[in-house]
Amino acid sequence: MTVLVTGGAGYIGSHVVRELRDRSSIVVVDDLSTGRRDRVRPDELVVLDLADQTAPELLHEVMVERGVDAVIHLAARKQVAESVRRPAWYYTQNVGGLAHVLTAMELAGVGRLVFSSSAAVYGDVEGDRGPVREDDPCHPVSPYGQTKLVGEWLCRAAEDAWGLRWSALRYFNVAGAATSDLGDPGVTNLIPMVLDAVTSGRRPRIFGADYDTPDGTCVRDYVHVQDLARAHLAALDHLGSSAYDSSPHREFNVGTGRGSSVSEVVTEVARATSRKADPEVVARRPGDPAVVVADPTRIRADLGWAAERDLADMTGSAWRSWRSS
Ligand code: UDP
Repeated sequence: MTVLVTGGAGYIGSHVVRELRDRSSIVVVDDLSTGRRDRVRPDELVVLDLADQTAPELLHEVMVERGVDAVIHLAARKQVAESVRRPAWYYTQNVGGLAHVLTAMELAGVGRLVFSSSAAVYGDVEGDRGPVREDDPCHPVSPYGQTKLVGEWLCRAAEDAWGLRWSALRYFNVAGAATSDLGDPGVTNLIPMVLDAVTSGRRPRIFGADYDTPDGTCVRDYVHVQDLARAHLAALDHLGSSAYDSSPHREFNVGTGRGSSVSEVVTEVARATSRKADPEVVARRPGDPAVVVADPTRIRADLGWAAERDLADMTGSAWRSWRSS
């Protein structure tokens, strides 16, 4: 089997590629805007901007030449704040990029797609709604979250139009690294921000401690990137199975079902680094919901996937990769 992984030179993509290598031939398509060439093998890499007008034709050629059987589409822009400033660009990049991938797939007769979606599709709700389920209402608050929800709609439309087999994985908060060369270079995510602060002698900042949560700080569902990578393989297997045909489910939460507060994460990072954290509480970051935790029942039942690693595995591996970068 040959799998085309868009965004395969990125943080999550390179983990997916590593998990896939044992069982598939791989083609990585990446524009290297945030991905890194040294994360993939030279013979696997095709450098290509998916949002460019020429992308459908070039992708079609790659799919036919390499005999691609399935696509894992991760390439996307993912900065929430940037998407608020540049909504049209986010739609062009994320929705346009997916549209080009689907155009090429239909032309080349490639019928299976795992689409990288996000918990950002759910958006904010009043009060604590508890763990979110896939059929809860989706009201994304950022253009980024909107592009992921529209992407899911587009996949469903392609299923209706020409029989695309697809799954959308709604990632919760991804963290950690499989090996020290594959760490998250993330500029705004909590764990890299805390690592950056403690290693440069600054106090980590907590964005708000007056939320309606047990310790007042926001609660998120952190999932290890290696567990997340395995979820893509489970989704691919599912697309090839008869269980897919009898199931109405296309969207899957990828989370642990366990929430950790910002305070707990800061403490855990401090433990991993053996340094004192002494966090400083600053103003809330606009648009942050109090609690975002997955109900992972569906992915366990349908794909047989469950997270195996905990927060200590994430902070420990994030720290090892941070140190070696
Ligand atoms: N956060 C924080 N300090 C930081 C970075 C993030 O307090 O330096 C908080 C943020 O407000 C949110 C949580 O950590 O409540 C997770 O943020 P992140 O950006 O990692 O992911 P998000 O949940 O926003 O996708």
